Amino acid sequence: MFISFTDGSFFKTVLDSHSDIIAVIETDGTIQYVNKAWERFSEAYDGAPDGNSVRANYFDLGKRSIALPDVTRDDAVAYEGISSVCSNHQQKFETVLPCHSKTKRRWYKLEVTRIEASGEPLVMITHRDVTDQVLAEERFKSGFESITTGCVLINRRGKIRSFNATAEKIFGYKRDDVLGKNVKILMPEPYQRNHDGYLENYQKTDVPKILGIGREVEGLRSDGSTFSMHLGIGKIEMPEGTFYIGAVTDLSELNQARNELKIALEEADHANRAKDVFLASMSHEIRTPLNAIIGFSEALKMGVGAEDPAHRNQSLENIVIAGRQLSKLLSDLLDYSMTETLSIDLSPEKIHPPSVFANMLPVIKSLKPDIKINISTEQQSENFVYIDPGRLEQILVNFSSNAIKYSRDRNEIEFGCVDRPGNRVRVFIKDYGIGVERDRTEEIFKPFVRMRKTAEDVPGAGLGLAICKKLTEQMGGSIGVTSELGKGSTFWVEFPVA
Ligand code: ADP
Repeated sequence: MFISFTDGSFFKTVLDSHSDIIAVIETDGTIQYVNKAWERFSEAYDGAPDGNSVRANYFDLGKRSIALPDVTRDDAVAYEGISSVCSNHQQKFETVLPCHSKTKRRWYKLEVTRIEASGEPLVMITHRDVTDQVLAEERFKSGFESITTGCVLINRRGKIRSFNATAEKIFGYKRDDVLGKNVKILMPEPYQRNHDGYLENYQKTDVPKILGIGREVEGLRSDGSTFSMHLGIGKIEMPEGTFYIGAVTDLSELNQARNELKIALEEADHANRAKDVFLASMSHEIRTPLNAIIGFSEALKMGVGAEDPAHRNQSLENIVIAGRQLSKLLSDLLDYSMTETLSIDLSPEKIHPPSVFANMLPVIKSLKPDIKINISTEQQSENFVYIDPGRLEQILVNFSSNAIKYSRDRNEIEFGCVDRPGNRVRVFIKDYGIGVERDRTEEIFKPFVRMRKTAEDVPGAGLGLAICKKLTEQMGGSIGVTSELGKGSTFWVEFPVA
């Protein structure tokens, strides 16, 4: 044997000065040499092999522990690895081996290297104490796992090394599905395409785009959906190399809350503007009839037209009309504020909708005595619905009074009640008036909305249709209009067949 481990020899001096525990063994496991660190270890650590282990068999020392009932997988792996270097199946083998005593947890990193000395094969086994490092990793892992932020640990090439429970929840992946994969699977395009380049570039230039800064980016879930997330990235230097840790916070809920707030603010803004429009139009609506009442009453008081009964009657008639307008305005306002603040009182019955037509006629005639009311020639529905007949009448009177108001010269309207798909019954009032602009057919059912162009010379507060909509919806129905500008409109309500 060429290598000499006698005192004062070169190898012994070098190996004894090493802080790692070193054993040199022959390929059958016979220990040729153990260094000073091995001897120190034997003295300090209960259960360690004898300090004077030379000529003992390394595997027997190991087997003793492998034969214990609590032998771990790591022991078996170490044994296999060392054997394979001894039998020349591999040149080098490394593993981290737990070597716990009753009182202390310890880990050793084993580096097993095949060496040749004058054609004689030997195997050198270095045991380095890595307990502090393993414990630090354990602490890191338990922190990593328990943290409520999604954490993804990647290596320099972008491969995912750890993925905590919160990240599983955020991205919808199980840890085992992503470990070893490139982190770009968690990003949508174009970030996915560019990520490798970004990582490479950063490593070359050391100029971070996101590292240590954090920003809002898009994430990609396992189901293919994307979401906004806040991503902060930190760099960690570990003995195995450089790693990057990404801390992910899902912003979906926050963004949803932000959107809802934005919508609420827009609605409040809309309501505020509607209130301004309302106040302006209300003062106009109230002042016009009020001025008429005051003007005509004062003229009568001063005796204007006292000798002309026809003139006098016309003045009185004008006062009555203006008074009615005010009264209608007030009842609309009251009705609307009732539907807004209180739940509407309903007395539903099973009725055939056209049964309410007869009751409506006197009211409509009082609005316009010479109005011609036709019944539609379409096939009339025989079906019944379960609604409050008084409220249906209120809705249809509103449609009819609008039909008269917005009809100018045509002096006729049409009533109808027809079956509709989906087992529904539609009741409608058709007119041949000015019609509704196509893009405003939904808007006119909102409170205080009036079509300026067409309705400015007709008194009204823009509340009637909003009241109708509320009433209809409370009775489980829907409301709408089909209309053509200049040709007329058909306002309708629909209810399910009872
Ligand atoms: P008001 O008639 O008091 O303005 P409504 O809520 O009943 O309030 O109607 C809202 C708006 O819808 C009206 O100002 C008018 O512009 C439009 N509208 C309602 N009915 C008709 C109709 N039959 N023909 C044309 N436009 C109509």
